[in-house]
Amino acid sequence: MTSPTWHGGAQAVVTLTFDVDAETPILAAGRRYADHLMTMSHQAYGPDVGVPRILELLAELGVPATFFVPGWVAEQRPGLAATIVEHGHEVAHHSYSHRAPTTLSAAEERADFERALDVFVAQGIEIRGHRAALWDATRVTLELIAEHGLAYDSSLMGDDRPYLLEVADRSIAELPVHWSLDDWEQYAYLPSPQIGSVIESPRKVLEMWTAELDAMRHYRCLFNLCLHPFLSGRPSRLLALRSLIEYAQASGGIGFARCRDLAEAAHSDLSLPRRTPPAVSADPDVYPD
Ligand code: ZN
Repeated sequence: MTSPTWHGGAQAVVTLTFDVDAETPILAAGRRYADHLMTMSHQAYGPDVGVPRILELLAELGVPATFFVPGWVAEQRPGLAATIVEHGHEVAHHSYSHRAPTTLSAAEERADFERALDVFVAQGIEIRGHRAALWDATRVTLELIAEHGLAYDSSLMGDDRPYLLEVADRSIAELPVHWSLDDWEQYAYLPSPQIGSVIESPRKVLEMWTAELDAMRHYRCLFNLCLHPFLSGRPSRLLALRSLIEYAQASGGIGFARCRDLAEAAHSDLSLPRRTPPAVSADPDVYPD
């Protein structure tokens, strides 16, 4: 009998992940933006228009996905998380407020993390994994994930395959991300707050992601695609995503998984590397703050 593997025999595994940030990254830049109606509506487009369209696409193509939802967004739109789960997808923890953990004290980060957990408990949503706002995880982030018994994190970049992180006597599966597989760098544009200044062609984006998928099949990697409904829910971008999924399905040898299922497979794969979180110490005389 062969032991279980994270990839289950696939040449590459695709995790389609949607970060349903909605208004949170903008409010994190300043509460005053609540009065900027163009900006608020630009963000509301994500859950209100993008998510239903994405759910329809995923159902049509028969692929599972993971939706990382800030607690604030779940609270503001009761029923959103439940609808996603009813479609067979996973809802995962994406902080409460979408403030970067690196800007918070340990106590603030704990309060924010646990407030989001409380929201999901109240809504009957079972949470197995976490992604830090802006992927900006701290040591506290990993400790909170371990302490609350979650199975995985998806914020770090130490590999292009899952790996296991030893944190506080527990093991967390890390499902690594990368800037090149994030739609934010391709499509994010807002003049104020300046969240980005590019509007790339979806054809270019499709070409780039297809090339990465091909190479990841060669190296048997995790294609962990990070999309934002307020960006990728727009028509030509969603059709590019459809083409990418259809390409992956036609290629053969590609598995699709929810992050929680991949994390479970990673935990039972005895061949995966076990690491500790980066612990870099730097001399303040050489590297001042
Ligand atoms: Zn986010």
